Amino acid sequence: MAPGREVTTGWLGRLRRHGAVREGHFLLTSGNHSPVYIQNALILQHPAEAAAIGRALAARVRHLAPEVAVGPALGAVIVVHEVARALGVRGIFAERVQGRMRLRRGFTVRPGERVLLVEDVVTTGGSLAEVAALAADAGGRVVGAAAIVDRSHGALALDVPLVALVTLDLPIFPPDRCPLCLRGVPLDAPGSRVVLEAGADGPDSGGRPGAGATR
Ligand SMILES: [Zn+2]
Repeated sequence: MAPGREVTTGWLGRLRRHGAVREGHFLLTSGNHSPVYIQNALILQHPAEAAAIGRALAARVRHLAPEVAVGPALGAVIVVHEVARALGVRGIFAERVQGRMRLRRGFTVRPGERVLLVEDVVTTGGSLAEVAALAADAGGRVVGAAAIVDRSHGALALDVPLVALVTLDLPIFPPDRCPLCLRGVPLDAPGSRVVLEAGADGPDSGGRPGAGATR
C-alpha cells in the first residue's frame, strides 16, 4: 500500500478511521525512517474494537490450539488480553527490564505449554523473537504468532508463521538515504518509549511511535 492511497475497507480501513495509520516522517525503532507509522492505541482505546481484533486474530490461530498468549509490553498488552479472552486461554506479557525481555509479576510459561506470540505491530519481529526465546527457555512450545499489523516485508526473524489482520508493504529508509530528510521534512518520534523505559514497548516496532523510537 502506498502512503496516501486511502483504503477504507477491511481492517486497514478500520485502523484509518480511528486515526491509527499516521503519515509523515517517523523515526523507527530500528533507526530507519518511514513515512508511515501505526498507532494501534487509537483503535484499541475502543474496547469493542479491541474485542473485535481479539476475536479476528483468535479465529486465525485457534487451529494451533494455543494454551497461553504472550506479547511484549506495552503495545501488545491489550491485544494479548483480547486474543486470550477470545481463545479462552491465559494472556500474559513480557517486559523489558534493563534491556532484557522478562516475565515478571509471577507470569510463567509452563513446560510443554503451547504458546501463541502476540504483537500489535510487527516490523522486524525483534521483540517477538525475544519473547519466543523467553517462552522456549521456560520450556514452552511456540506454535504461532499473531499481530494486528505486519509490516515486516516478509523478513520476520521468527520460526513460526505470523498471522496479521493487516499486511503493509511500506517504504522504510536508512537515515542517510531518506528522501524525507533530503526534503527537510521534520522527523517525528512521538510516543512513550523513553518515558516508560528504553524499549519498553518493543524494539520490533518499526511503525509504532515511541519517543525516539517509532514504529
Ligand atoms: Zn528521514
